[in-house]
Amino acid sequence: MAFRNQKLSVSAQQNDVHKRILTGLLRQEENRRCADCHARGPTWASVNLGVFVCLNCSGDERIDEGRDTWLPEQVAFVQAMGNARAAGYWEANLPRPPDSDMGLLRTFITDKYVHRRYALQQSSEPPSIDNFAAHPVCVDVCVGGGGGASSWWFLMHHKYPSNGIS
Ligand SMILES: [Zn+2]
Repeated sequence: MAFRNQKLSVSAQQNDVHKRILTGLLRQEENRRCADCHARGPTWASVNLGVFVCLNCSGDERIDEGRDTWLPEQVAFVQAMGNARAAGYWEANLPRPPDSDMGLLRTFITDKYVHRRYALQQSSEPPSIDNFAAHPVCVDVCVGGGGGASSWWFLMHHKYPSNGIS
């Protein structure tokens, strides 16, 4: 995808800044549980949904962050979104908590992101990396730095409604 080449232009210094921001985000209460199944300690970040998820809920296509680089707009999107804001959109009309059964969880995730079954209806388009700067779900975000030095264990995967859930 197009991001591949752009990553070459991210400096090591910029990458360190990104890591500090993401580490800080992971320490926030809202991001300490998986956005989909609410399991503790999500270890994956979806740069396309702007949320933190566990291994079970991450898609099949993922990239080892130790060998990869986040783009500034990807960091900005995750920063602007986060699990609480994402739930405010994607689970606005969720009648019950997601099931812990893996098969049912897959169905839930498909219903949630592909069919937008529980999503907030007022927005015509879901918040994404392409529109978040102007999206009503994200516009009131106060962007801050935060986070201290910590081991870098982020992984990245791509999970996005237009591609379906793999
Ligand atoms: Zn999960």
